[in-house]
Amino acid sequence: MVEEDPYWFSQEFISELLLRLPVHVFWKNTEGVFKGCNQAFAKSIGLSSPNDVIGKTDYDLPTTKEESDAYRTDDLAVIHSNKAKINIEETQTRRDGKKVTLLTSKVPLVNKQGCVVGVLCIYSDVTELKNAQHELLKAKEIAEAASQAKTEFIQNMQHDVRTPAAGVWALLSELTSQESDPKKKRVLSMLTESSARLLELCNAVVDFSYVDEQQKPVVENKIDIRRLAADILDLNKPAAYGKDLILHLKVDSIIPSYVLSDEFRLRRILINLIGNAVKFTKCGSISLEISAKREDKRHLLLCIKIKDTGIGIPEAKRHTIFEKFSRGTASDTNEYPGTGLGLYLVKKFVRDLDGDLELESVLGKGSQFKVILPCTVPLLEGYMHGLEIDETHVSPLKSIQELAIELPLASNTPLDTPFHQRVLLVEDDPVCLFAATEVLAHFTNQLDTARNVHEACMQLQQQPYDFVISDLGLPDGSGIDILGFAHQDEKSKNPHTPFIALTAHHQGTEKHKTALQAGFAEVVTKPLLHEQARHLFEVYAADSIVNATLDIIDLNLGMQRIGSKIPEKALVSIGMLLDSLKNEDLPQLKRAYKKNDLLSAREVLHKIRGALNCCGTPRFETSLEALHQAIKTHEDLHKITAQFETLYTEVELIADEYQKLKQSKTESLT
Ligand code: ADP
Repeated sequence: MVEEDPYWFSQEFISELLLRLPVHVFWKNTEGVFKGCNQAFAKSIGLSSPNDVIGKTDYDLPTTKEESDAYRTDDLAVIHSNKAKINIEETQTRRDGKKVTLLTSKVPLVNKQGCVVGVLCIYSDVTELKNAQHELLKAKEIAEAASQAKTEFIQNMQHDVRTPAAGVWALLSELTSQESDPKKKRVLSMLTESSARLLELCNAVVDFSYVDEQQKPVVENKIDIRRLAADILDLNKPAAYGKDLILHLKVDSIIPSYVLSDEFRLRRILINLIGNAVKFTKCGSISLEISAKREDKRHLLLCIKIKDTGIGIPEAKRHTIFEKFSRGTASDTNEYPGTGLGLYLVKKFVRDLDGDLELESVLGKGSQFKVILPCTVPLLEGYMHGLEIDETHVSPLKSIQELAIELPLASNTPLDTPFHQRVLLVEDDPVCLFAATEVLAHFTNQLDTARNVHEACMQLQQQPYDFVISDLGLPDGSGIDILGFAHQDEKSKNPHTPFIALTAHHQGTEKHKTALQAGFAEVVTKPLLHEQARHLFEVYAADSIVNATLDIIDLNLGMQRIGSKIPEKALVSIGMLLDSLKNEDLPQLKRAYKKNDLLSAREVLHKIRGALNCCGTPRFETSLEALHQAIKTHEDLHKITAQFETLYTEVELIADEYQKLKQSKTESLT
């Protein structure tokens, strides 16, 4: 065995060790009297030798009284608990008045008998580190404030740009629908399309800021995929029909009525891919096919294919086109205008939703984008197959000429039975006010207008309204203030009047949520178009509509809603509606009524409402909305028994009419 050098155990070595330690070390007895320290500590408090510290207390050092008190408190805590305190942050005022930050650890000193006789302290000066941390925090706060300001700026810009653009679009589409001269109509349609494109451009910029803000996906929106797909095809019909493109829509029955996903992202993915397909196709067709693979009871893999017979994408560009601002065609030719952001956003949104994106393309023949997205089936719905859709849409002009069949477009048919409801429209922007007034004039001859909160409240004091459509941002307040006045102020004659918000803010933004939370029945994004106005009258004027003037079953409306030209298909939807009403919804509604369970009743109505999107049953819709409104404004379901009874009767009427129609269709076939 090698003999150890006694130096390692000598007093001399221990003193040398203390001297060289790069941290400050000192020890005190239980009374707080210093019993020793190392050179670094002595120097830091202005002593020339460590021995000079012996006999002093914290109160003899250049530190402030508060600092000395804090040291003593920590020492006593260690002494009394016989437990170490590690990494305490302390401040120390030096002889030159400089304040430094210390990171200190204190451990109890124990004698042979196990009694605590003092405290050993070690600290490092972390002032520089602390200052750097402080600077970083300050920089982070500044960056966050700047980012917040940027978000607000973009949202405001979006609102400010959308307002006039929406006004232009609404006015042009109104003029187009009124124009009978084919030449002028064509020019007007082109102008309408350009203004719609301007709005889209504005949306792309906002989407881009959305991505930049790293907003997290909301995967809990209940989405009716069929409705969404039909809406987006509708949006593209003017551009597609302008080039005589044929549109196909196929939705597999495996997809239930609703799925849960992020509606904003899903909508934008479809809008961008279908918009591109139409833009880059000169002749032929575009097809949107949605199928799914069931993973388990509650999970689906949605498979969305968008296929076109367009110009195709060269092999060399198939990766770069997904990059920010990357475009396959030069923008200065103006043949295919765009921003180069669409596919970048699609890729980002698909990734956000944990999905996959695939591209196949043959130059000169066409392209197919395939999106695979995982999604969930709502718990309440249970897993039920939905309606199968397999439709072809052709330009009405082409079909009339080539197929020699008359296809009246529902949106062009004049309203046979105008509603005579009293409606208040509140809007400060003169162009939007004019455009919305023009549209609403198709539906009522009793339209009042107000330009601000004050005028609106005056009107609400004078007469009751069937419903109020109000802009949210007004010069002297907000649409929410008007709603508050109508529903709470004694002077108002409109304690239960439904309010519809009309805003230039994009769907899914905070503004929409705030309005719904404040009590608005619905939020409509500007511009208010003909179909939306019709919907508002059908739904919110329900109470005072003479129900008898509405059809029990309107097959044209049904066909339009499922995007079909075959009346039998519209009838099948009604059969499915009746099945679900009789076997599930009405028994549930009756149970909710019995238990006076408002929440369940609203849930059932909400579910029925969803199913009605595929059916043409206007009378029933009005009764449903009347009941819905009544539930919103009453605490006790038993006080609105009449509305429940009406709804049940309407279901019976649909069942009778359905049988008659079914019979007549069968007879006409035989
Ligand atoms: P933008 O359409 O605004 O140019 P995108 O990011 O949506 O920007 O698309 C990038 C490029 O990808 C387009 O400029 C075009 O060259 C190409 N592209 C996208 N979709 C198609 C398509 N369906 N057919 C042919 N080319 C396409």
